[in-house]
Amino acid sequence: MAAMVHFIGAGPGDPELITIKGQRLIEEADVIIFAGSLVNPAVLDKRRKDAVVYDSAYMSLDEVMDVTIPAVKAGKTVARVHTGDPSIYGAIREQMVRLDAENIEYDVIPGVSSFCASAAACKKEFTLPSVSQTVIITRMEGRTPVPPKEKLIDLAKHHASMCIFLSVGFMDELTKTLMEAGYEPDTPMAVVYRATWPEQKIFYGTCATMAQIVKENNITRQAMTLVGGFLGDEFELSKLYDSHFTTGYRKGKD
Ligand code: SAH
Repeated sequence: MAAMVHFIGAGPGDPELITIKGQRLIEEADVIIFAGSLVNPAVLDKRRKDAVVYDSAYMSLDEVMDVTIPAVKAGKTVARVHTGDPSIYGAIREQMVRLDAENIEYDVIPGVSSFCASAAACKKEFTLPSVSQTVIITRMEGRTPVPPKEKLIDLAKHHASMCIFLSVGFMDELTKTLMEAGYEPDTPMAVVYRATWPEQKIFYGTCATMAQIVKENNITRQAMTLVGGFLGDEFELSKLYDSHFTTGYRKGKD
């Protein structure tokens, strides 16, 4: 096996939701560094007996690199396992820059992001005809700043389907901002705690009620916040499956 780093999306929690490729690369790896805060350790169950495992929740970027770089230089393969999909709040670019500087090869194996797992848990579709054809993935500003043009208040003005990561702890401010941006107080919201884990919980509410619901249930982290009409029941049928609509595969009836 080539000495390199594989950034692997572990999926949202259920160990069956990792890709076959991601699972195989974990099974083959000499060194595994996983984000223990949200990666289900069950995805590591089939690792080699001699694989060395590190939990990056306890490590800084420097410490992760101090383990990764010497391992690859010694001819080993490193599986760097991130929660969900690595391209979303995965902090992978800063690792790639360090690897580039050392001429170390890497690739990325995508994963099922928690925003997809949360829609699945709610049995909903983000892109409902006549409701929304756009999905906004964002977060509230917390200790990590958000660029000024991407403030929640501005993004919320679109009334698109919204997936708000990393923000369940600020639900008061979040729902106030949504309503300030023009969402009706009865706009549907869902908070999905630990989607696809055995302890998954789904809370349904509205912009007016969700802050209280989250507080009463003591949900402060590891949850996805979904907002928008797509959580409601009003929408038009799709053109794609309309019997009168002609597609590249099917001629519509007159
Ligand atoms: N790369 C990850 C996101 C990492 S940021 C992904 O693609 O999902 C961590 C945030 O993701 C959490 O604060 C939460 O908002 C969300 N998250 C991750 N796993 C989750 C899960 N199983 N259920 C609900 N939200 C989750």
